[in-house]
Formats: sequence, structure tokens, C-alpha cells
Amino acid sequence: DFEFSKLGHELAVGSGIGELMEDLGNALASGGDEIRMLGGGQPAHIPEVNALWRRRMEEILEEPGSLERVLSNYDPPQGNPEFIKALAELFREQFGWKVTDQHFAVSSGGQTAFFFLFNLLAGDMPDGRRKKILLPLVPEYIGYANQGTCGDLFRAVPPKIEKTGEHEFKYRVDFDQLEVTDDIAAICVSRPTNPTGNVLTDGEIDKLSKLAKKHGIPLIIDNAYGAPFPNIIFTEATPVWDDHIILTLSLSKIGLPGTRTGIVVAHPTIAKAVAEMSSVVGLSNPNIGQAIAKPLIKSGEILRLANEVVQPFYVEKSRLAQEWVKESFGDRFNYYIHRSEGALFLWLWFPGLPITSRELYERLKRRGVLIISGHYFFFGLEDESWPHRHECLRMTFTMDERTVKEGIAAIGEEVAKACSSS
Ligand code: PLP
Repeated sequence: DFEFSKLGHELAVGSGIGELMEDLGNALASGGDEIRMLGGGQPAHIPEVNALWRRRMEEILEEPGSLERVLSNYDPPQGNPEFIKALAELFREQFGWKVTDQHFAVSSGGQTAFFFLFNLLAGDMPDGRRKKILLPLVPEYIGYANQGTCGDLFRAVPPKIEKTGEHEFKYRVDFDQLEVTDDIAAICVSRPTNPTGNVLTDGEIDKLSKLAKKHGIPLIIDNAYGAPFPNIIFTEATPVWDDHIILTLSLSKIGLPGTRTGIVVAHPTIAKAVAEMSSVVGLSNPNIGQAIAKPLIKSGEILRLANEVVQPFYVEKSRLAQEWVKESFGDRFNYYIHRSEGALFLWLWFPGLPITSRELYERLKRRGVLIISGHYFFFGLEDESWPHRHECLRMTFTMDERTVKEGIAAIGEEVAKACSSS
């Protein structure tokens, strides 16, 4: 037997995100018909989007020296300079933000950017204090949960639950309970939120931003699904950035998850620190995604792709999934769908569910349907007695119609069975 360090235990021995990516990778690799994969954050293969990646690869192959520059060079750890220049221009033009090339750092996917940012800002400080990341609203992205290199990194605040329809609800930040104590290093939210599809309102973001600024700490906004790309947002939401805001983006959800390309927009001190961390951990970043996207960012085509292809595609996917939930669940049991305002998921809540969501996950897995148990998304929250955290699940609606429809039907049957036998 090998002995593992504390950090080893944190990173290498069982995590929700590890389980999820195992399930996801195996389901995709098996190519099998027998698994209904509603678990991961795998974006859809949209034919028009994939055709564009193919065209870009052909262009890279055709242009003399282009392929060799991509495959045979290390980029600087901050990222490809031309890619960054194009990004900075896009953000200045689109949003009027006063950002220079020094405000950017590329990372090996957004996931890695978070590992760097959280451990840069929080954990054991040089003066012996221990700092945490404040999640103003949970459920929040499962991928953050195990990222702390000095153990438990998060403090979370439960949301206000607002019923917005017969079978619909929305989480709101509970500002009355939100307290920024001395040991808070930063505030962090994903917007749109994974797992719920919630989009924090402009008002909520403004309040969080002011609160962070007042305490001299960063507000981290995880924009993996946000504007300007992939812009998988179904409501109105203004993108924001400021000197104290750290915005992260990714090329994954527009359709390039395999390239592992994350982007951090932050004060130059933060951006530089992320670049330094990239060099220590990985020397340099994968550059094929940057090479594919660069001309699309320069020309603005990436905006057309996001707004005219990707966004409408997921609007329809969300609408259909909600329709099938309603058809399939009927009035056999009590349920609510979180208002679907963006991202790739429906978040389902079964008030009074007689089994835990973990048990529901197990039962569904046994019949070949993979979802994510909601309990994983409530990390950082001490109150174990709150039933809500064991009454929810996340299901992805990006897969083909049959998979999603049959998956939803199975969820309905299992919940009905659990409710009737209690
Ligand atoms: N942040 C959120 C909210 C996500 O949902 C994901 C992926 O699902 C990520 C970050 C990380 O994505 P990637 O590392 O592919 O950029």
C-alpha cells in the first residue's frame, strides 16, 4: 500500500467530479446504446459547429507553416499572444471594458483556472491565517468542491427558494444571510450556474460586486456558459467586468472541450500569477483550441456562431426537455424544475422525496440511466439537516432526443416508485 499526502487524499481519492467524469468518459467511450447519459457537462455535437472546426483544421493544414507552429511550439505560459490580442480587442469592442493583453491568461480549461485561482487566493496564508472562498448561493458547480490544496476551501450560503410557477422555482441570493467575514478571500459564482441553469440577475451581480469591492476582495464570475461565447443564456443578463472582478471563460461549451482552453480576464497581477502557475504545473497550455478560435475571434464569427447557432440550439433542447418532464411526470408526485435560464442542465427538485438523491442516482444507474445526485452541489454548507440538499438532481439535456426522453421517463418511474412504496 502507498501512503498518500493530505493533498493526495484531497485530489486523488474519490470526488464527485471524478465519479462524474468516469461515468461520462466510459459512457462516451463505450459508444453503447444501453446507457442513457444525462450526467456530464458534455456539450452537444452540433453539425454546423463541428463543420466549422473541420474547416478551421483544414485551413491550418493548408496554410504553410501553420500546423507546425501549432503542434511543434510551446506557447508562453500566459497563452498565445495573438489569441490574447484578439480576445482583448473583442472585449473592448463588445463590452467597452478597459482591458489590455495583460488582463488575460489562458489555462488548460476553465477547470484548471479555478484550481489556480482558488489556491492562489485562499487556503493557508503566509501569516498563518486560513482563508476561504465564499459561495453566495449553493447549489454550485461540483467541479470546485475538491480543488483546495489545504482541505476544505468553501463557505456556502443557502439560497432563498422562490416558486415561480406550478412546477417551477428559482434560487435567489439570500443577502440577509450573506456575510463577508475577515477570513473570506473571494466570492465566487457561476453565471449561468451549473447545475441549476440559474442566471443571477444584474441586480444580484451588482450587489455582490459592491460587496466584494467594499471588502477589498475579488468577485470571481465563472462565465463558462456566458457571453460573448458560448452565450448559452436564455434570458437577459449584462456581462460585467471590473478591476476587482475575475471573469473566467472557456472554449469548451461552444464545442471545443477536447482542446482544453480556458481564459481568465482579471487584474494584471492576477493574470500574471495564473500564467506563472501554468508554467509550474504544465509549462505551457494546449494551443490547438487557441489556433482554431483565433481567426473566428478576430473576425467576430465566434459571436455569430454563439448567437445564431449554439444558443438557439440549446434553447430548443431546454424547451423540449421541460416538455418531456411535464408529460412524463404528470401529477404522480410533487416536483419542481429550476427556471431554465441557461447552461446545459435541468435541475429537478422533488420535495419530500422519501429516498436520498444519492439512492435515486444508484437506482437509475442500475437501469442504465446516469444523472448527477444533487447532494454533491451543496459543498461548503454546514447544515446537514436541510432536506432540500438530498431532494434534487441534475440532468443534462444535450444528448439526442431519444436518450433524453427515455432518461426522463426513467427518472419519473423511479421517483414514482420511491414515493408509492414509502
Ligand atoms: N465552470 C463551470 C460552471 C462548468 O460547468 C465547467 C465545465 O463543465 C467548467 C467551469 C470547466 O470547464 P472546462 O475546464 O472544460 O473549461
